[in-house]
Amino acid sequence: MKLEGLHHVTAITGDAPRNVDFYARLLGLRFVKKTVNFDQPQAYHLYYGDERGSPGSIMTFFEFSNARSGRAGAGMVHSVGWRVGSADALAFWERRLAAEGVVAELGDGVLRFDDPEGLTNVLIAADAPDPPLAAASADIPADHAIQGFHGVRAYAPEDAIAATVPQLEAIGMQRDGDRRWTAGGAERRGHLVWDPAPAEPGIEGAGSVHHIAWNAADDAELVAWRERVQEAGGHPTTVRDRTYFHSIYFRVPAGVLFELATRDIGFHADEPVEHLGEALKLPPQHEHLRETLERTLTPLPNPRVAA
Ligand code: ZN
Repeated sequence: MKLEGLHHVTAITGDAPRNVDFYARLLGLRFVKKTVNFDQPQAYHLYYGDERGSPGSIMTFFEFSNARSGRAGAGMVHSVGWRVGSADALAFWERRLAAEGVVAELGDGVLRFDDPEGLTNVLIAADAPDPPLAAASADIPADHAIQGFHGVRAYAPEDAIAATVPQLEAIGMQRDGDRRWTAGGAERRGHLVWDPAPAEPGIEGAGSVHHIAWNAADDAELVAWRERVQEAGGHPTTVRDRTYFHSIYFRVPAGVLFELATRDIGFHADEPVEHLGEALKLPPQHEHLRETLERTLTPLPNPRVAA
């Protein structure tokens, strides 16, 4: 039993239309699912990913309209790392982002930039054996497309990291660097790097990461992982039905909210792969709200339908 890297990363946006424009059009991710926050159905939950909505490629956003601006601090993920195929791809993205006025900083094998709400994304020319998870986009050459998650970086103080180690070990993560931990399965690897926390406290808000989800197989694994986390002193939730996956959640002592999500259901559960992201999809418990939600939720562009 091994986690296959990251399943998804969920952040907060205060501006859903601009968020769709940035992630689906500019970054060329596929708009995989337009649904609502199951716990607060008045708000969107938007999913972006590769062509098929594969776990390992899924960036999601809760829309909290007019959310205050967030800031990553201790106990929070501060950047999301994506793989690209080569240094040439980094040069392509530097040009593409610059043409839209997005300032990007090119470093050694990485290109760093913020989304419109300040969430840091990093493209990494990583030499990873994992199969690429890319979306097709009319104006992005296939060689340069984003290929799924490499990993995330989070801020935490030393003592909190030390207190988190038993729970990282309980879910099979391995330390493979001074501050880097890896969830590595048969096909995919996902990394979590702890960085020293800034003095300023974090603010959960627009542009901040809400939680990170690791990729589990099915309910049987969730139950088994849940027991291991409990034995390591964690307090996981019961298994939750998220329609496209089942999940457990637990906040590690370092402050980051972890989720383990299953890959056995998928985003094609309620619409065919060729039409992912086109219609507002609601879970059965919120279907009675459809008429109201279709009137009150902000209309969103779908770059693929428009193209
Ligand atoms: Zn989640």
